[in-house]
Amino acid sequence: MIVMKFGGTSVQDAARIRAAVSIVQRHRDRQPVVVLSAIAGATRELLTLATTALEQGWQAACAPLASFENRHRGILADLGLDAAAEHQVGDTITTYAEEIEEFLKGVALLKQLTRQTQDTILGYGERFSTLLFQAAAQSSGLDVETVDAATVMITDARFRAARPDRAELETRSAATILPIIAQGRIPVTQGFIGATRDGIPTTMGFEASDYSASLLGAALGASEIQIWTDVAGMLTTGHTAVDDVKCVRELSFDEAAELSLFGAKVLHPKTVEPAIDRNIPVRIMHAANPDAPGTTITAAPTPTGVPVKSIAVKEQVTTLRMRPLSPTPRHVSLRVIAEIVDRYELSPILITTSGHRMAWVFDDPGLGAAADTSPALAAFGTHFDTICNPDCAIVSVVGEMTERADGTLARALGVLTDTTLHIASHGASDTSLSFVMPRHETAHAVRKLHDEFFAGAALGGLFGPAEAPR
Ligand code: ADP
Ligand code: MG
Repeated sequence: MIVMKFGGTSVQDAARIRAAVSIVQRHRDRQPVVVLSAIAGATRELLTLATTALEQGWQAACAPLASFENRHRGILADLGLDAAAEHQVGDTITTYAEEIEEFLKGVALLKQLTRQTQDTILGYGERFSTLLFQAAAQSSGLDVETVDAATVMITDARFRAARPDRAELETRSAATILPIIAQGRIPVTQGFIGATRDGIPTTMGFEASDYSASLLGAALGASEIQIWTDVAGMLTTGHTAVDDVKCVRELSFDEAAELSLFGAKVLHPKTVEPAIDRNIPVRIMHAANPDAPGTTITAAPTPTGVPVKSIAVKEQVTTLRMRPLSPTPRHVSLRVIAEIVDRYELSPILITTSGHRMAWVFDDPGLGAAADTSPALAAFGTHFDTICNPDCAIVSVVGEMTERADGTLARALGVLTDTTLHIASHGASDTSLSFVMPRHETAHAVRKLHDEFFAGAALGGLFGPAEAPR
């Protein structure tokens, strides 16, 4: 059995939905379980609807809700279903839209948008996409059944960033999904969303459908987790400043985890965790070119001796430099920082220390608010002299770094001579080197690094073309 996850762009119109259906059809013998994202942009639109209702009242959200609904109706019309099926799906679209309308009215009336309400509203994107996919699949003769993710993906009540109960997922998916497969049918479910044990809708964070797919793959003991998307696979860089990118054929779990953590958006950072636990290969595949090999991520990829496999960029990070206001033992400083990080749920990604001075790099632009109004920053300020720089980026070179770095560090520094390096980090990970720099310098730095490690050189069979042959 395999899990096949299709991202938002791969289901964003009728033609792409039909293409996804035919990809599933081709893999039919491998007992696919399909996981879907909302159509491209839908989750953000829903979020905008909710904040519009909150800030400007219900009427202001009416027109955008109608256009959200009509986008899905347009896809339905383009699917060319028979009249009865089209009618039935149309009715469900009406029902969902009316439900969203009720929630938006509630938000406007109460003048309150809690994380819980937000999750309830955001979850509709995936309900619409699975509805359309199911209809398209059935009309092509695929025997699919939609399983509501809320009945299997049980999570805690940490809304917007809910954490799954993997034991419960295993029990429930064995009870509801396996029987569908055993009947020779194809289960389809929503990524991104779940529910608490009490049935309150939750979401696992933006872009988390990849994570849903791998959680499900691990729970079901799948032989492969396929992430179908709009690029050829993991590219040598996702940065738009580079045009001669290549597709990396093989990566280790560690390399893929590091790349996604450091900004390679093609894979949600948590995706590989469940796959590692059960040692299940993850493949990134190009929906527009289903015959291409894509990228295969395993525990032990074929050794190649190629030191650098890809360059990741995270363009919105905040660097916070700190020095204690009064003499403080280092372990106390660390405890204070850890406590603030925990209290404000910050995401540190990189740390360097030198004596009593420390620099922490956070995934939270401006630490969650404009720098001067951030309560977290104020909390740091009561203990430390702080210099906060919210306009930073991290550029990470990922591959097989030995402790000698095989000259990789020297080569990287050699081409970054005209880059302002706030921080260079090497040593914590044996798969990455990271450089923190002003955001406006990233394009130039990435181009230099990419030229150094990927241009022209004989790279062997590890890299393939990034573009789909048309
Ligand atoms: P999906 O909707 O299928 O989940 P995403 O937009 O989340 O797709 O991820 C695919 C996008 O990730 C690509 O279109 C590309 O712009 C971006 N990306 C960033 N870094 C990389 C990388 N190293 N390799 C491939 N894609 C990358
Ligand atoms: Mg994605």
